[in-house]
Amino acid sequence: MNILFHPELDTELTQYGIQIPIKDDRSEKVFEWLNQNNHSIESFSLSQLPQIREEELLLVHNAEFVRRFLDKDLVHGELIKAYELINDKGEYNRYEPVLAKKQLSQMVPSIFKQVAGTLMASELALQNGFCYFLGGGMHHAMSFGGRGFCPLNDMAIAIKKLMFDKKIKSAWVVDVDAHKGDGTAEIFQNDDHVKTLSIHMKRNWPLDGPMYDKEGSLNPWFISSDIDIGIERGEESLYLKELKKGLDRMLSWGKPDLVIIVNGADPFEADELPSTSALKLTLEQLFDRDMLLYNFFEKNNIPQSYVMAGGYGARSWEVYAQFLDEVLKLREVKFS
Ligand SMILES: [Zn+2]
Repeated sequence: MNILFHPELDTELTQYGIQIPIKDDRSEKVFEWLNQNNHSIESFSLSQLPQIREEELLLVHNAEFVRRFLDKDLVHGELIKAYELINDKGEYNRYEPVLAKKQLSQMVPSIFKQVAGTLMASELALQNGFCYFLGGGMHHAMSFGGRGFCPLNDMAIAIKKLMFDKKIKSAWVVDVDAHKGDGTAEIFQNDDHVKTLSIHMKRNWPLDGPMYDKEGSLNPWFISSDIDIGIERGEESLYLKELKKGLDRMLSWGKPDLVIIVNGADPFEADELPSTSALKLTLEQLFDRDMLLYNFFEKNNIPQSYVMAGGYGARSWEVYAQFLDEVLKLREVKFS
């Protein structure tokens, strides 16, 4: 299975009164478009998803946070924090509880399915060399809690679980979302077996807060990835060259058993989230970005597992669809 899709895996934030402009049907659109373009994609049943339990969360997240997340009352506060639904003045922020059809805490099973999807895609990538999960990518979640629309870190849980099960010894996370993969960097900062690369807009993330607190400790959202590549406004023409340089540097440290690509579409110039405006790649540049990644990992024989991450507004699906159309064609030829 090259592509992992199920309509019930969309988080549908609007049902909970959350007003973040992720189109509820983003992955469905990609899936339908690929099927209309002569790719037959196998479907799968949700019962095939691996179980995500407390043990899996504890491989990555600290015990206090996991306790709060699994408590049906306390999880509400954790989700308010993760989705930034109350601002410093105590007012609702992008949140209209009166419009909600469901309680925030009812979101938990769907968050678990996102984590399970990333784990399943990574297992399939180990078997087949490639898998794309039309979901996942919660890269701002840290060991101690969620933030930036990311309640749990699905990439980190997938990697730690595969290591625990002795299916891999090492992994990379290559993050091309417009926002820095700061949660992943924090979680793996002292882990020699997992290398992280993030290429992102140099400004606009973290959205607020100083680099150091009053005691002089580094704000965790500024923790470095193994390689951080910040792209300044107007430097889009350097993007591909810088990404290639970063990948070559990673390779000089040795090949991993698996790479998870945090394949955000939000560097797209047509993205509608205001905080992504500092990086504006064209659809063509994004195609080149994704093919650079795909060909690099194919050539080096590194199993590649993709998650969608950020991509906001009416056109973000196009970024994913154009890449998957090409990859499916290449793989259909390769295996025919
Ligand atoms: Zn993003």
